[in-house]
Amino acid sequence: MSLFTDIKLPTGETYKQPIGLFINNEFVKSHSDELIETINPTNGELITSVYAANEQDIDIAVKAAREAYETKWSKTSGVERGELLYRLAELIEQERDILAKIDSLDAGKPYESNSQSDLSQIIELTKYFAGYSDKIKGSYLPISDEKFVYEIKEPYGVVGQIVPWNYPLAMASWKIQSALAAGNTIVIKSAENTPLSLLYFGQLIVKAGFPPGVVNIISGLGSIAGSAIASHEDVDKIAFTGSTQVGKHIQQAATSNLKAVTLECGGKSPSVVFKDSNLSNAAKWSALGIFYNTGQNCTANSRILVEEEVYDEFLTLFQEEIKKNWIVGDPFDDKTTVGPLISKVQLDRVQSYIKHGEEVEKLSKLEVGDSAIYKEQKGWFQNPIIFKDVPTDSKLFQEEIFGPVVTITKFSGFEDGLTKANNTKYGLGSAVFTNNIQKAHKFGRGLKAGTVWINSSNDEDIRASFGGYKLSGIGRELGESGIEVYTQTKAIHVNLSEE
Ligand code: NAD
Repeated sequence: MSLFTDIKLPTGETYKQPIGLFINNEFVKSHSDELIETINPTNGELITSVYAANEQDIDIAVKAAREAYETKWSKTSGVERGELLYRLAELIEQERDILAKIDSLDAGKPYESNSQSDLSQIIELTKYFAGYSDKIKGSYLPISDEKFVYEIKEPYGVVGQIVPWNYPLAMASWKIQSALAAGNTIVIKSAENTPLSLLYFGQLIVKAGFPPGVVNIISGLGSIAGSAIASHEDVDKIAFTGSTQVGKHIQQAATSNLKAVTLECGGKSPSVVFKDSNLSNAAKWSALGIFYNTGQNCTANSRILVEEEVYDEFLTLFQEEIKKNWIVGDPFDDKTTVGPLISKVQLDRVQSYIKHGEEVEKLSKLEVGDSAIYKEQKGWFQNPIIFKDVPTDSKLFQEEIFGPVVTITKFSGFEDGLTKANNTKYGLGSAVFTNNIQKAHKFGRGLKAGTVWINSSNDEDIRASFGGYKLSGIGRELGESGIEVYTQTKAIHVNLSEE
């Protein structure tokens, strides 16, 4: 089997897709010759198969990353790393359209928003970390006349990275670009469902001029390839984005050589709407917060809490907003803002929660939008669903659904709102809507979450840190933290005296 295949996009163009493992700047077959299939979620048809790595392949990739680190990358200056990353940003910009189309094909992401929003973020963060590469500095500690200490930030060395399917290229870019800027070499594994964009990206790594072995891209099963990266004795740090359940496995596997660990895990984020807020704005942001990416978003505000006095008014505005702007359909149709879910497994999972809400908990369900549109399609479509008056002990209020399903719950005043907002085991993102400035900041401080949005939702900025409290994770990415998590500190003690 060849290492490249021609793929015809729904737009009619054909492009060349690499399907091998990307090691030492080359696409190679896996040792076992095993393949994994990747399926188009819009129609359930096979797109192609890619080579899947086993433990032996991971070992080879880690050796390539180690060799590249010791012989080349650790000797490369911050200025040189920055130049390579700038070149990479230019190449991503040039190939923006095809990269967006690949993820729309492979992950069902609406092309329009993927190309505009996700790819813009990837380009912006690549430039941001390019600029950071030569600004990583340490500190000086005067001790006495003849003694001082200076502390320097050093890369870990070889970093393992494991990413999910919901933002295939964006989640990988959050990790790759910052780790490279900090001076590490990388072995990264894509999710089983979405290997294509990251393999294509490997070609840009070569064109940008990164030395062989600096970035190694692996496709494969989590239980085999992911697990082998997490437990590998020569990987110095592991960074993972995915479910909390797998995050716990990664943390355990990482104890083999006490790897440093960053985990970006699940969430059950609230959007809290006070009666003194701009309600149409709150409805607009809350809808974006849950329905962007078909609700397959770790910070999806899947619980909306509304102050009781404005509950009915908000609900009406929220439904109008969904009907107007959250349209289910083919990801390559310009009007579509809600594409299919990633897989049949995910669709079944989401629908089992809907069934549970209706049949077991007897919750009041509102179905929004024209369900006929998606029912005609062969893919894994689900239109937006609202469950109203949901109690805090409901399974739907407590568990991450990862689909276009939102619960709405009343609250009464500041304390009740805060208690309900914090009433889950997760703590990733939270949104609060109020026009009272004191209340907004006090509430923001009271929220147990790594990110708080005041009068917006899911409005990330790559210059700010991102990460979770509680079961949502350990460590931060992006912003200055993006460099911090990929460096370790060395204290060098200097004695100027003769004694
Ligand atoms: P997942 O945990 O099933 O898989 C994530 C990655 O881990 C995949 O690459 C998978 O192959 C790999 N993996 C699976 N089992 C493994 C194992 N035993 N050892 C090593 N690697 C293994 O998650 P998913 O279904 O791909 O993504 C959805 C989840 O990701 C949701 O819970 C979501 O909240 C979370 N997520 C979090 C963030 C964040 O930044 N906090 C961002 C996006 C997604």
